[in-house]
Amino acid sequence: MLPLVLALLPIATSPALAGGTASLASRLASDPRGLRYGPDGSLEAVFGLPPAEAGMVFYPVSRSRALPDGYAPPDLVNDLDHPLRALVVSELRAMFAAAERAGADLEVVSGYRPATYQALLFERAVQRQLGRDESLSRDEAEDLAARFVAPPGRSQHQLGTTADLSSWEIGYAIRRDFAETAAGRWLAEHAWEYGFILPYTAAAEPRTGYVAEPWHVRWVGRPLAALLWEAGYPTSGYPTADDWLVALEGLMEGQS
Ligand SMILES: [Zn+2]
Repeated sequence: MLPLVLALLPIATSPALAGGTASLASRLASDPRGLRYGPDGSLEAVFGLPPAEAGMVFYPVSRSRALPDGYAPPDLVNDLDHPLRALVVSELRAMFAAAERAGADLEVVSGYRPATYQALLFERAVQRQLGRDESLSRDEAEDLAARFVAPPGRSQHQLGTTADLSSWEIGYAIRRDFAETAAGRWLAEHAWEYGFILPYTAAAEPRTGYVAEPWHVRWVGRPLAALLWEAGYPTSGYPTADDWLVALEGLMEGQS
């Protein structure tokens, strides 16, 4: 039996998982794709990205970790009919072209969302919960809503490197059965080849707090996406994709 003091610690900071974060960080540090140094010993790239970009591209935003207040990405473009950071557009185009060659149709149905819009979506979700059950308190309704919609300031969509994708097969809807479409199956297998991860898997739900979202892709670049894929993140309850990003952030802080 665990000593009482350990049993009372929240799971994310328990000593076992803190050790886990250290071991993830050392795995990231020892990967030849990870940290690249210049001749003068300064850090030149983190998993293929300049350090100045890496901080936000790899930012471990989650239900319990907000983005910096008022964060907005610097290079939004509307090239795929939805605002997204310029640095992910060519990767999405390459991925969509490969999907098409395999007979699968993918399109962006949601891209960058500012915190103000996320607040509106979240409030709508809270009101839906309250409408369903009038006995709920506001806090209870927010907890329920947060399983499906990120609270404002805590959505990966605010990064501009995250998109929701769908297919003609389900009328470009955002629905669980996207996972069963040709497009959804292709995406689950091949997104990593273009630098995208699907952070909200069924296996990760107990830690992310979000129900599975097979349509939700986040760009982290090809080197890190490949490492996560090799580590088997899609079926892993721990570490989740978010756990890897927390470890990477710690590693980057140690370098600066
Ligand atoms: Zn999404």
